[in-house]
Amino acid sequence: MNFLRSNTYLNAFTELFFPRICYVCGAHLFSSEQEVCRRCLRKLPRTGFELVDDNPVSQIFWGRVKLEKATSLYYYRKGEILQQLVHRLKYKGNYQMGQVLGVQMGNVLTQAGFMVDIDMIIPVPLHEKRLRQRGYNQSDHIAIGLSKASGIEVVKNRLVRTVHTESQTHKGRFERWENVDNIFSVVNPELLNGKHILIIDDVVTTGATMEACVQPLLQNGIAKVSIATVGYANY
Ligand SMILES: [Zn+2]
Repeated sequence: MNFLRSNTYLNAFTELFFPRICYVCGAHLFSSEQEVCRRCLRKLPRTGFELVDDNPVSQIFWGRVKLEKATSLYYYRKGEILQQLVHRLKYKGNYQMGQVLGVQMGNVLTQAGFMVDIDMIIPVPLHEKRLRQRGYNQSDHIAIGLSKASGIEVVKNRLVRTVHTESQTHKGRFERWENVDNIFSVVNPELLNGKHILIIDDVVTTGATMEACVQPLLQNGIAKVSIATVGYANY
């Protein structure tokens, strides 16, 4: 029995006792599927924002930071399926979910021509404390999926988090607001000179974290920046 064949037997054996099923509908997954079946992924509420320049995600940043493009793949609403998927990704150790959603994002954005002039993908860095708790950065895994589907490389350790946002809870409201600035900084900015960077996060709400990420990249005109998230929450 060659290795490949014995491996197939092993997979069939594992499947017998640990069937791979869709997290949403419970259907058996094809070998090409992971976590969520194709039918359930197709039912997620797409925004179509990637085809519209002045979309609601771009508008969040008007008058705050200059972005080339901004988009979110799906509407993110409380109680809906996407919220459950993101919850699994962030709080249940299911980092594969990030890759599944990232691949969806990559397929849509590539087809729309959104990725054409992007040089690199940078996931929003997580603070160290939360990284230790969670064991991974969910945005890294969204970026990995996006990279698989688009062929654009993920670059880490260029944008770093310098302040733990947790420490802000001890401060007054005004100070807290002020404190969002300067929590990220750029390492070796010369390596990003003239590049068009796509920043990735799970869900955009107020845009405060994204804005803080983008600011140091735009300083001194280092780079051009666009953003993309899996979810858009308008509440
Ligand atoms: Zn399903």
